[in-house]
Formats: sequence, C-alpha cells, structure tokens
Amino acid sequence: MLTRSDLPEEPVALTIRGAEGHEHKVTVGRRAAGGVSLTCSCAMFSRETWCRHTVDVLCMRLRALGITDPDAEFALETAVMGTKAEDVAHELDRALIAYSRALERLDASRSASLAADAIETMAGIARDLADAATTLADAALRFRRALAAAPETDRLP
Ligand SMILES: [Zn+2]
Repeated sequence: MLTRSDLPEEPVALTIRGAEGHEHKVTVGRRAAGGVSLTCSCAMFSRETWCRHTVDVLCMRLRALGITDPDAEFALETAVMGTKAEDVAHELDRALIAYSRALERLDASRSASLAADAIETMAGIARDLADAATTLADAALRFRRALAAAPETDRLP
C-alpha cells in the first residue's frame, strides 16, 4: 500500500470530458513541499493558467468528468490531498458558484423599468454581482499563485 511519502514520480494524466462535452487532457503532479503541478489542454487554461476542469479535478469531482478508473482516482488523491492547491481549489469552486448565481439572478431579474423599486432591485443585484466578481478574481489569482511553483516546462504546449 502506498503511503503519503511515496509520492508518484510521474504526473497523473487524465482524459476528462468537460461540461461542454469536449475532451481535454489534464495532468496533475505532486511536487516537493506540498506543491501541485497542473496542466489542462483547454483554451481557457492556456489563456488564464486555470480552468473549470482543473478546479473540478482538484475537488475530486471525477464521476462528473467521466473518470471511473479507481487507480486514477487513487493516484489523484495521492497527488492532491492536503495540498494548498486543493484548499484554494475549493475556495475558487465556491467563488465560481456564487458568481454564476449572481449572473443568473441578473439575467432573471434584468429590468429597464424606471420604477423606484425596480431600480433598487437592480442596484442590489449589481452590488452582489460586483462582490461575486471581485471574490472570484481574488480566488482565481490565489489558485494561480498556488500553482505558480510549477515550472513552465511542465506545461502542455
Ligand atoms: Zn481546462
């Protein structure tokens, strides 16, 4: 049986299916001092150095990503458990959900009415959205910083 000190030498390579239905390659590796190296082949990751897929992987939402191999699950748990990246991924996950709810509320309640109560409602929705966006930007930055220890050479082209 593997213990926490037997860190996997090779990064765990996964083919995942995103919510949008496309397949992506995600790699997760454990680094010294509790670091995690992470890559995803999607366009969002190349642009922003994080993406929904990598957050879902670090939150171990494997069934939803189409991963049912128990060996992959075990290797991933070994690479990720107890790391700072895992903590920050859960924080980012909550921020993503809050932002998405704030956007949905804006879409559902959007009004051009000039009635006082309608304007007040829109102001409240706008404040909530601004708060959620700021929290999301902060969480994304912390997530990227938690992964920043990974050298560029480990990233997929
Ligand atoms: Zn991705």
